[in-house]
Amino acid sequence: MTRPVEVPAVAKRPRVLSGFRPTGPMHIGHLVGALDNWIKMQDTHECFFAICDWHALTSEYADTSRIRDYVEDMALDWLAAGLDPDKSTIFVQSHVPEHAELHLLLSMIVPVAWLERVPSYKEQQQQIANRDLTNYGFLGYPVLQAADILIYRAEVVPVGEDQLAHLELCREIARRFNSLYGPVFPEPRAITTRVPRVPGTDGRKMSKSYGNAINLADPIEESRQKILKMVTDPARKTRKDPGNPDVCPVYDLHKAFSDRATLDLVNVECRRAGIGCIDCKTYLLSHLEPVLRPIQERRARLVQDRGRVRDILAEGARRARSEARKTMELVRAAMKIDTGIRP
Ligand code: SF4
Repeated sequence: MTRPVEVPAVAKRPRVLSGFRPTGPMHIGHLVGALDNWIKMQDTHECFFAICDWHALTSEYADTSRIRDYVEDMALDWLAAGLDPDKSTIFVQSHVPEHAELHLLLSMIVPVAWLERVPSYKEQQQQIANRDLTNYGFLGYPVLQAADILIYRAEVVPVGEDQLAHLELCREIARRFNSLYGPVFPEPRAITTRVPRVPGTDGRKMSKSYGNAINLADPIEESRQKILKMVTDPARKTRKDPGNPDVCPVYDLHKAFSDRATLDLVNVECRRAGIGCIDCKTYLLSHLEPVLRPIQERRARLVQDRGRVRDILAEGARRARSEARKTMELVRAAMKIDTGIRP
């Protein structure tokens, strides 16, 4: 018979955990797809945002030379975009070693078959052909991700459609733990928000690994040049040819950044060759630049004060760790592995 464990109530606002792997610069796809949403959630949720450096190692273990810089750059990007350390706990995963302890304990109860059937496991092994991803850490990635969420007993997790399978696995792991040892973990719910498609400058999904991204830290002039060279409707070869916004990646960016009047204008004038693609891209820039400029100004100030950024991460880790320790006490008690000896 499993002894019931008393679970302290978590804060009234739903607790949320989200994060990113520091494997490269943040771009406007991340802004629209995640950061804008996080910034809103800060006022309605108790937010924990993790820079998941151990996750970066699952695929980047052979060349770790840039991860440390990416960690600091990511913190700069998040703060510049509007994450507020007075409202949210912003921290680096490896500064809270309890993530690793919980990962280890969860790995004892997770059948290997659960991990092998995660769709992204095989897909990514095939797609990322230039690295050997047959390592144990890569297979266990979803268990570490579950530990990241469960260590805070997070109730909600904002996820993209492609992450739903990972969250479902996390819920399964929570259920298995609770049924073996007693109720410790809430089963976190997914929050999926509809986000506009943000293609890269070559029309494929915007991605740091495709080299097609408009990064938050790019100087405005560089972003401008990237947009001006961006691919458009391939059938529109000359200024006189009518175009089709429905197949044009520039129009997708309009949907993410421009107002209704601009969308309607482009939708009509492109189809009758009333505007050229350079006109169209200039309209886009007139909406994109006012979004990027304040982010860059805040980023430039933060770069001058890196000590403050490090202090924010240290304070975030203290707050995160204090919550993580409480969970680990519950976990050890539930599993009856707490010896009571305090070395
Ligand atoms: S006018 Fe705009 S929407 Fe039309 S093809 Fe050119 S860039 Fe695309």
